[in-house]
Amino acid sequence: MRHTISGIIMLAALLLTGCGGTNSSSGKANDTAASRDIFAMDTFMSLKAYGSNADEALDKAGERISVLEEELSVTNENSDIWRIDHAGGNPVQVSEDTAAILKKALEISDDTDGALNVCLYPVVSAWGFTTGEYRIPDDEEIPSLLKNTDWHSLHLDGSTVTLPEKYQIDAGALAKGYTSDEVMEIMRESGVDSAIVSLGGNVQALGTKPDGSLWKVAVRDPFSPDTDMCVVEVGEKAVITSGNYERYFTGDDGNNYWHIIDGNDGYPADNGAVSVTVIGSSGIECDALSTALFVMGYPAACDYWRSRQDFDMVIVTDDQRIYYTEGIADVFSNISSMPAEVIPVA
Ligand code: AMP
Ligand code: MG
Repeated sequence: MRHTISGIIMLAALLLTGCGGTNSSSGKANDTAASRDIFAMDTFMSLKAYGSNADEALDKAGERISVLEEELSVTNENSDIWRIDHAGGNPVQVSEDTAAILKKALEISDDTDGALNVCLYPVVSAWGFTTGEYRIPDDEEIPSLLKNTDWHSLHLDGSTVTLPEKYQIDAGALAKGYTSDEVMEIMRESGVDSAIVSLGGNVQALGTKPDGSLWKVAVRDPFSPDTDMCVVEVGEKAVITSGNYERYFTGDDGNNYWHIIDGNDGYPADNGAVSVTVIGSSGIECDALSTALFVMGYPAACDYWRSRQDFDMVIVTDDQRIYYTEGIADVFSNISSMPAEVIPVA
């Protein structure tokens, strides 16, 4: 059911780009749209491309997504991630994709002091977020699991990965951003210069719409996830969101527990942010940062942004306020009843 609802929302979000219609044609060669709806990586994906090479490019993109799913799945016994997690401390040879993702993960983990930490998988798993068999781990279980989550223990040497015994990783925080980067690369190589994809609501665009205008990307309201909260107009950018509504369960205690874990205590991150959207040119970077900034919360995520200022973001706080960076001020439309304000630079 969750998948069905999120799929409808995601398709609605894509339609907001103003390019609805499957395989529709307006008669002009560079205006011909082709699209694909795919279910992969536990996510509804919607891909749309324009121009005469669009169909061929989308077929190639679909094949690439299947390969990436095989490599990156945490549950498929043939995947790189599964082999790393079950190597008993021995070195494992992985694909270039997996190596690139882990390299970026380690870089952002260092830069965010472990707010992003792919080694938290034993904790993610204990909460049941992998299987859907949700549970609240007890107070003794979490500290013992946290002992084996120091990301400095994950070693990457070219395409050789070594992870200590009892450690486990998952690439869920970056895999979709990497995938949308790769899809865009296939589009470019295939001669497509106008395309947009949504991987479970994480959007990445190539070029502009065929008429030269910007893409309109809707971001969901975390307090009412079946409605949109704002629209951001972008060119060739990724718009990637981490939210507490994306995967969660309600415990017997009546509290909601979501899938993004704070490595400081092993509990779902609850530091003042309920949704963080990162806008930038690299999908993997935006995906890694959206998870990390969600963990940091508000206002720490604003301090991190101030220290870099090479991406834009929209952050929603648990007291129902929207904050966004000045770089998107001219292309940001608040369509919610929440107040929205620009994050001061200093
Ligand atoms: P995202 O939706 O991109 O924010 O990624 C969330 C997914 O990343 C979760 O479903 C987990 O598989 C994994 N995850 C949860 N917490 C963290 C964390 N602090 N660092 C890295 N990965 C995480
Ligand atoms: Mg992420």
